[in-house]
Amino acid sequence: MHYYSSAYKSEPVTLRSAVLQGMPPDRGLYMPDSIPQMPPHFFEHIHLLSYREIATSVALTLLGEDLPSDAIIRIIDKALNFDIPLVRLHDHLYILELFHGPTLAFKDVGARFMAGLMEYYSERSDQRLTILTATSGDTGSAVADAFHGADGVEVVLLYPQGKISRLQEQQICTQGKNIKALEIDGSFDDCQKMVKNAFQDNELKKKLCLSSANSINIARLLPQSFYYFHAYARLREEGLREKPLISVPSGNLGNLTAGLIALRMGLPVRRFIAACNRNDTLTRFLDTGRYEPGDTVHTISNAMDVGDPSNFDRIRELYGHSPEFLRKDLYSRSFSDDETRDAIRRVYAKHHYILDPHGAVAVCGIEAYRREHSEQGVYIALETAHPAKFGDIVEDTLDISIDLPPALESVLHKEKNSRKMPADYSKFRQYLLER
Ligand SMILES: *Cc1c(COP(=O)(O)O)cnc(C)c1O
Repeated sequence: MHYYSSAYKSEPVTLRSAVLQGMPPDRGLYMPDSIPQMPPHFFEHIHLLSYREIATSVALTLLGEDLPSDAIIRIIDKALNFDIPLVRLHDHLYILELFHGPTLAFKDVGARFMAGLMEYYSERSDQRLTILTATSGDTGSAVADAFHGADGVEVVLLYPQGKISRLQEQQICTQGKNIKALEIDGSFDDCQKMVKNAFQDNELKKKLCLSSANSINIARLLPQSFYYFHAYARLREEGLREKPLISVPSGNLGNLTAGLIALRMGLPVRRFIAACNRNDTLTRFLDTGRYEPGDTVHTISNAMDVGDPSNFDRIRELYGHSPEFLRKDLYSRSFSDDETRDAIRRVYAKHHYILDPHGAVAVCGIEAYRREHSEQGVYIALETAHPAKFGDIVEDTLDISIDLPPALESVLHKEKNSRKMPADYSKFRQYLLER
């Protein structure tokens, strides 16, 4: 299979190039040139398969032309080493808990798979791979954890000093080994600029084999389709044969794009719900058919604070640029912080279940859909972060206290190891060359 650029101004490439380049030279996004179907018998017996068996079948279908099957199996066994339980709240409502990975957010799934794939490629090359990533928090901790100890790969993470949470900083700065943390005296945008400069520096690129681990890498996107099949399998295991509606708390739209890819591969889903916070660019697009990115608004579900979602072009490609076609599969609403907090309170009062603000937005999406449509049916809300990751907000909303899981608590007490640097490209360049 080849991967083409959504901007159509550069040549299609192999999986290896798409993964190592991250972004095509024309600054579009890589998309698979065809989306294969899962065979019908796969769905007949899907309830008998474990999460890893399902992920392996889907990965072999998507990537089997490009990677040997033993490599796929090895990458999956290492990357997907945590549970993704489907929890029943009541007859019609299920929660898919995507937060049982090492950094307690669903980004672990994509980051760990990408790390496995990059390690595989670097083993087959005589050059060490250097991965540069600017982070404003969550992505950095998932990437740092995922790549820790990967052979032949070094990760350099840039973060803005004083602008990420203490826990995130500790997660980035205590890994050691092949994970280097640079504490930049500047903003997140400064960090991003320094990384961009490095990628445009031809002399540097000749000397180092540079790659990035940002959220638009196809290697992070594709594995996110696996857990949609797994969610369906667990419903079937409960004896349900209905097609579910799945609500995805959406920001940069990677998670949603992966769901729509799963649908295109044949997954029985009635419709997706794109649940947005006040950053409602996608919701407005479905209403008006016009894409008008807004300024980023700060909310309590801050991992979804994206005014111009990067994966939007991928969704547009999947639907032949037709809003009508997309509306058949996708419904979207946007919710305020007050509505999000109300959902956290309601679900806790009714079911004694603690949602984080992102999962709460997903539940708001389901409630809105049910008010507007008189369908019964089965609903799944994706819960993308552990409530302890957003402990302040949840504790304040519910007036309870939440403990950090022990693995995270221990990170807070490790010794921080980072290197301070001004927001100056020449210093960064020198550092990269002299390591
Ligand atoms: C990144 C993130 C999201 C948004 O996912 P996208 O793929 O960017 O739409 C939602 N919730 C949490 C906790 C996240 O970290």
